[in-house]
Amino acid sequence: MAAAVPECATFDDPVRLMSAPKLVLYPTAADTYLAGPALRHALEKLNFISTQFQLDGQSHYHTGPAFLDHISFLGCSPAIALEAPTQDAESAARTGRFCHLHLHEATKLPRLRIRPGQRPRCRQCRTDIEPESLLSLNSASVTLNCPGCRREIEPERLNWRQSGAIARIFLDIWGIHNGEAVPGDLLLQQLGHTTSGRWDFFYIED
Ligand SMILES: [Zn+2]
Repeated sequence: MAAAVPECATFDDPVRLMSAPKLVLYPTAADTYLAGPALRHALEKLNFISTQFQLDGQSHYHTGPAFLDHISFLGCSPAIALEAPTQDAESAARTGRFCHLHLHEATKLPRLRIRPGQRPRCRQCRTDIEPESLLSLNSASVTLNCPGCRREIEPERLNWRQSGAIARIFLDIWGIHNGEAVPGDLLLQQLGHTTSGRWDFFYIED
C-alpha cells in the first residue's frame, strides 16, 4: 500500500541505497526511562504499529492501520511505501525503502545521536555547541556550561534544530527523509502521557 501523497520528486541518489533515513521521536528530558513493553503497548493502542519482524537481530514493527493518522507527509514527497515488497524485503527494510519502526530499549545512560556536522544551539546566547563537548554528557549528570554565556544548561533546553538529541529512549521510524514528514500532535501527546514529559523529533541517517 502506498500513501496518497503527490509524486513530484524521486530519490535515486546512492545515499538512499546505502543507509536508512529516519524520523526519530524521543522524550526531551534526557534521563526519561520507560521499559520497552510500555512504549510498545502505547503504540499498539494507537494502532501505530502492527506485526513484529527481525532485522539484523533487532525487533522491528510494520506500520499499523492508523500510522498515517499520526504521521503527516509534507508537500512534495515521493510515494511512501508502507508495506514490505514481496521480493528482497530484507534489503528494502535495511535501506528504509518502506516505513517500519524500531523501538530502542532504554539505555542505562542518555546517549547522543546527531547528524554529522550539525550542532545544537544555546537558546540564550545563540552559541553553537560543539559535539565534542556533548559527548562528555554521556554520563549520569547531563548538563553543560555554555561556552558563550557560561550558563549551565540541560540538553533539552538547547535548540537541536531537528538534527539530533540526547536521550535514553528513541523511537525510530525508518524510511522518512529529512523534513519529509512530521509526527502529529496526538501521537506526541500520547507518548508524553506515557512518560509524563514532552516528546520531540529529529531526522537522521544512521
Ligand atoms: Zn549560551
